[in-house]
Amino acid sequence: MQNLSEGTRRFQRDVFPAKAELFSRLATTHQPGTLFIGCSDARVVPELITQQDPGELFVIRTAGNLIPAYAPGADGVAAGIEYAVAVLGVADIVVCGHSACGAMTALAEHHDLTALPAIADWLRHADAAQARTANATTTGAGAGAGAGEPETVATLVRDNVAAQLANLVTHPSVARALARDAVRLHGWVFDIATGAVEELAPASGRPAALAVA
Ligand SMILES: [Zn+2]
Repeated sequence: MQNLSEGTRRFQRDVFPAKAELFSRLATTHQPGTLFIGCSDARVVPELITQQDPGELFVIRTAGNLIPAYAPGADGVAAGIEYAVAVLGVADIVVCGHSACGAMTALAEHHDLTALPAIADWLRHADAAQARTANATTTGAGAGAGAGEPETVATLVRDNVAAQLANLVTHPSVARALARDAVRLHGWVFDIATGAVEELAPASGRPAALAVA
């Protein structure tokens, strides 16, 4: 906690004054342009990766950047999505996976999660991603990559972004915004070692192009 206290003091002394005008405006307005859904992983910091100021990203971070498909009943992720899309009117939604994701590694390497029931349950939201990767591995696209090898984890990370984008569309607020052509969806994978961001082709979950070199 000492680090956090020192950091807060440094923020107030060295950072805030230069952004005082921005924070003054933000005190009464909240109009982010983008909903960024990323992993809770401490190494994947949305505002740092995208160099966005406070007020520009509405961020939801979950373990494995998983987005449960819409279902009746309260759920914090669904509420955040609904607020960002239906109330704040974000124009873009980014679902961002990343290299060396602990959640995807646990699935790819079939870790024993019996002592971690909450994690085991939560990771079920990646079942479709896992099925897709398993199929690709046995039919050629990922052939040669055995379970647990880095290629499989990397493939699962990408397939998971595609699967979570599909889950995202099941949320009524997102479906409504898409029908009005009011929102665009993006799938990204952030590489921790190089800082590269790869944009995935929305339909396939396969790499399309480098969004950011
Ligand atoms: Zn992760």
